[in-house]
Amino acid sequence: MAINPQLQSRCNNSCELCSAENVELQAYAVPPKSNDSIDNVVALCPDCYSKITESDYSDANYWRCLEGSIWSEVPSVQALSYKLLGKLSAEEWATETIESVALDEAVVLWANAEDELEASKLVHKDSFGVVLATGDNVILTQNLNIKGANFIASKGTMVRKIRLVPDNDEQIEGKIEGHTIVILTKYVRKAV
Ligand SMILES: [Zn+2]
Repeated sequence: MAINPQLQSRCNNSCELCSAENVELQAYAVPPKSNDSIDNVVALCPDCYSKITESDYSDANYWRCLEGSIWSEVPSVQALSYKLLGKLSAEEWATETIESVALDEAVVLWANAEDELEASKLVHKDSFGVVLATGDNVILTQNLNIKGANFIASKGTMVRKIRLVPDNDEQIEGKIEGHTIVILTKYVRKAV
């Protein structure tokens, strides 16, 4: 499947991430945007395409190409590069690259949009499996040693107006004696 001539000329017939030439390029829409505009897509070689669609980031060295592609002038390429660098945050070069670029806020939002959408699908449940929501009141089901604040919150303590930790369904945040702390959902039950 040939890519559209406009995209072909933008990418100069090479992969917009790894610069591979003489390969069959495919247009990849950077989520959550769709394929309907050239501004939403990145021209990818088969290797980059399959690694991304299979979420295979095991070969960190392969992705050193992102150190170059992040400097592209094309927002979709910036967003995809930024997003992939985020998946490689265990690599020092990847975090350094992220820190060295100043991207438009809109590009960063775009890059993070899919993960945030995933996070918003997480369901937080208390120790009895009851679904929790931000603003709920909960009761501690055991004594908790509050590290840092140096006190023990006793079983039965009411924690009002909790907040759900967006990227971790086992954690909520709440205030106990004026300290905002992270509490594991398995140590609370929803107050009714
Ligand atoms: Zn490539």
